[in-house]
Amino acid sequence: MDYDVIVVGGGNAAFAAAVSAKENGAKRVLVLEKAPREKRGGNTHFSGAVFRFIYDDVSQLDRFVPNAERDYPGFHKGVQPYPVAGFREDLMRVTQGRTDPELSTVLIENSYDTMCWLQDVGKHQFELAISVMGVRVGGEVKWPRGAMIRTVHEGVGLSKTWFETAEKMGIEIRYETGAVRLTQAESGRVTGIVARGPDGFATFNAKAVVLASGGFETNPEWRLRYLGAPWDHAKVRGSNFNYGDGLKMSLDIGAMPWGHWSGCHATPIVATAADYGVQNLTDKTNRLSYHYGVMLNVEGKRWVDEGADLNSFTYAKYGGMILKQPRSLVYQIFDSKVVDLLEPRYSTTEPFKSDTLEGLVKQLDLDHEQAMKTLEAYNRAANHGGPFNPAVLDGVHTEGLEPKKTNWALKLDKPPFLSWPVTGGITFTFGGLKVTQDAQVVATDWKPIPGLYTCGEMVGGLFHYNYPLGTGLMSGAVFGRIAGRAAARS
Ligand SMILES: Cc1cc2nc3c(=O)[nH]c(=O)nc-3n(C[C@H](O)[C@H](O)[C@H](O)COP(=O)(O)OP(=O)(O)OC[C@H]3O[C@@H](n4cnc5c(N)ncnc54)[C@H](O)[C@@H]3O)c2cc1C
Repeated sequence: MDYDVIVVGGGNAAFAAAVSAKENGAKRVLVLEKAPREKRGGNTHFSGAVFRFIYDDVSQLDRFVPNAERDYPGFHKGVQPYPVAGFREDLMRVTQGRTDPELSTVLIENSYDTMCWLQDVGKHQFELAISVMGVRVGGEVKWPRGAMIRTVHEGVGLSKTWFETAEKMGIEIRYETGAVRLTQAESGRVTGIVARGPDGFATFNAKAVVLASGGFETNPEWRLRYLGAPWDHAKVRGSNFNYGDGLKMSLDIGAMPWGHWSGCHATPIVATAADYGVQNLTDKTNRLSYHYGVMLNVEGKRWVDEGADLNSFTYAKYGGMILKQPRSLVYQIFDSKVVDLLEPRYSTTEPFKSDTLEGLVKQLDLDHEQAMKTLEAYNRAANHGGPFNPAVLDGVHTEGLEPKKTNWALKLDKPPFLSWPVTGGITFTFGGLKVTQDAQVVATDWKPIPGLYTCGEMVGGLFHYNYPLGTGLMSGAVFGRIAGRAAARS
């Protein structure tokens, strides 16, 4: 079976590559999706589908959200520009300066143009991500810069539209067909894929292969191997098909590992969440409003500055820190002053509730005496600076307390008090492959492997330690589009 371009995977990065390959002249494009049709779409299906991208002027957002001013008066005046320097500063800050300088430049500088391409060629529709990114202050909604736009129907819509667009363009899709290994000519050029489908093994030949089969977040053995304990016990927020197959196939033919192989994206999720993402619950297990409250571990202690930064810049690393707390269990505690600020996702599980802090703590499975001491000490130290503003780093802080809380440190004093138990759920892994600026995979001799490209979670080097919300899908779209174009022309 001969193709121009074969794309491995059925997520955002894979379809950006497949559609781009077709757009750039590849006649026969094949997408191999390991999952069955009803579980297709990888992590992309589960995602909140928020995209982070640059714009020098808020009017550049009008093509995506033409009714923003009508629906949220003051939108144009309230949204700050997000130039190249702003995105770079955020990425550098959260990755402690370790993001790959060349690849991050490609990502950032192509982000706006790729959003336009997603709309024009991918046929995606966008909206403001009011439920997760909009913060109501008085009568107005405040928006963070850079990451506030998502696809309509979130990841479900993003994934569905990709499949529809690809089918309309004549791209062939095979479900339940998992790539197993790459084939190579004696010259070293990649010539295709061996895959296992419903009828057994088959070889698919192609002029170029794009691997977009995600990271190794679903694989407990690799998680233990690269991330260490207790990651083998982590709940998986998304797809249960991302076992690192594409990474393994590439490493087997000499591809160069690149980036932060002991790092991953993980977030606070409800403690009772299922072991893998649930197809119709998508990302509703997230519990990301902890910056308006405090978090106690089962020893009854605070263990982190809940208000160190906007939650979009802390959530991806706090999940891992929660997983490493005793019993991987933490209680988020709020009072009624902030309850209206909690993301709507909190309403998908019932909290513990009481009119007194003592009454609340008694219901939680932790050290009650220590928890009360911690909460009383917190209340004595809170409420310095301000005024309180939920939409910005407001400087309301604790004094004389360890760990400190740097922003939104209001006293817990207005009943009823509420608590949600959370654990850390893994989203995706940071370790990947080294690629050129054309998304071509580089071998351990520092030379590109002819005919082999990659994109999405498989690209190494962009994320270290932490991650700015909305960058995974943007990276998948940018490098997928580039990979598809380069593969079509290779
Ligand atoms: C709950 C949740 C919420 C998220 N929210 C956001 C958000 O709002 N914004 C954002 O930017 N990012 C978000 N992310 C992260 C984002 O979803 C990922 O970064 C992105 O989807 C990765 O795209 P991908 O195409 O690389 O991988 P995936 O979308 O995971 O796709 C991988 C594909 O490869 C397939 N596959 C695996 N092995 C094989 C094989 N051997 N052969 C063939 N196919 C194979 C899988 O079945 C799957 O279809 C979220 C993730 C989750 C889980």
